Amino acid sequence: MSRVIGPGEAIGVLGSGQLGRMFAIAARRMGYRVHTFSPDRDTPTGQVADVEVRASYEDLDEVRAFAAKVRVVTFEFENVPAATAEAAASQCEVRPRGEVLHVTQNRLREKRFLRGIGVPCARFEEINERGDLARGVYPGVLKTAGFGYDGKGQRMVRTVEEAEAAWGELGRQACVLEELVDFEREVSVVAARGVDGAFAHYGVVDNAHRNHILDVTVAPARVGEGVVKEAVEIARAVLEALEVVGVLCVEFFLTREGRLLVNELAPRPHNSGHFTFDACVTSQFEQQLRAVCGLGLGSTELLRPAAMANLLGDLWAEGEPDWGAACAFPDVKLHLYGKLEARNGRKMGHLTAMAETGAQAELIARAARESLRRKS
Ligand code: AMP
Repeated sequence: MSRVIGPGEAIGVLGSGQLGRMFAIAARRMGYRVHTFSPDRDTPTGQVADVEVRASYEDLDEVRAFAAKVRVVTFEFENVPAATAEAAASQCEVRPRGEVLHVTQNRLREKRFLRGIGVPCARFEEINERGDLARGVYPGVLKTAGFGYDGKGQRMVRTVEEAEAAWGELGRQACVLEELVDFEREVSVVAARGVDGAFAHYGVVDNAHRNHILDVTVAPARVGEGVVKEAVEIARAVLEALEVVGVLCVEFFLTREGRLLVNELAPRPHNSGHFTFDACVTSQFEQQLRAVCGLGLGSTELLRPAAMANLLGDLWAEGEPDWGAACAFPDVKLHLYGKLEARNGRKMGHLTAMAETGAQAELIARAARESLRRKS
């Protein structure tokens, strides 16, 4: 049994975005030191970390030097090369282990893994050459196997001809062609697994997307008990089969017939779990810290129904948003990630609203976000 990594020790985070920032805030609150590693400077994580290392993920000497100064390395960005995780593992604990990244950073490996453990997902074909496109189900969604998130590297295709054109645009690389799922809604489960195999989850939440990017999450989801039970059991099976130590999110489609299909896995805290920062006894970020440090997992109890609304760079189109207006909502919490440049579609922050019901919280979160807009 490995020893507990206690407050005062240094934790390394590979990646430097908002997930690392919120992890670092949770870790520093508990008295840990945080080191972050990424190719960028003055990053969301770096702004609140003790140490910000700027280097390429391919620079394995830098990775080893970084890992040698911390007790455990974790991730906030899963597209870190496998060799980077291995180099870190030569110096300290890496949690979750590199194999978890290896499986989840590639849609083909991820789908083969899910199929292997008997978890339902949308029908798909592997596309390695042009001829493979003929076997696809149409309409479908063509997605690159590697390095995709928030709808990047994917195209909706209605016919083989469209798929051929889209595959060309995506650079003729290995892809998955999924059937287009006629879902009733999208839901997710954020869950955690400790060093000792303990399991905890935040229940099922409702996710609404815009332009393939998460827009609003409502907790708890408006789904029946049977769906909750099944979704949580799938999440448990995934975390156990991958032997995850840390937090992992399972995103699902809930079809009109009430079937749950796994869309994708994220082996880290997830945007659909941001509400936990304000609305749960233990946030997903503290949970990740507890898990990777070998501490007991904290209670995931939801203190009040909540809704999270993302703030994308588009909100800055008419100038700095009206922060005072959103802060005039007493049950709304503002989170900004310290990003230096607001680009369209870029996640700049979020709002969390709490209320008596999820539906009320959603109305408040949306109204607060609307109040930010500068009227031109
Ligand atoms: P992904 O990056 O795979 O999570 O896709 C981003 C979003 O695109 C999802 O949350 C869905 O809203 C939509 N999407 C992706 N794949 C499919 C599919 N096979 N059928 C229907 N919608 C999809």
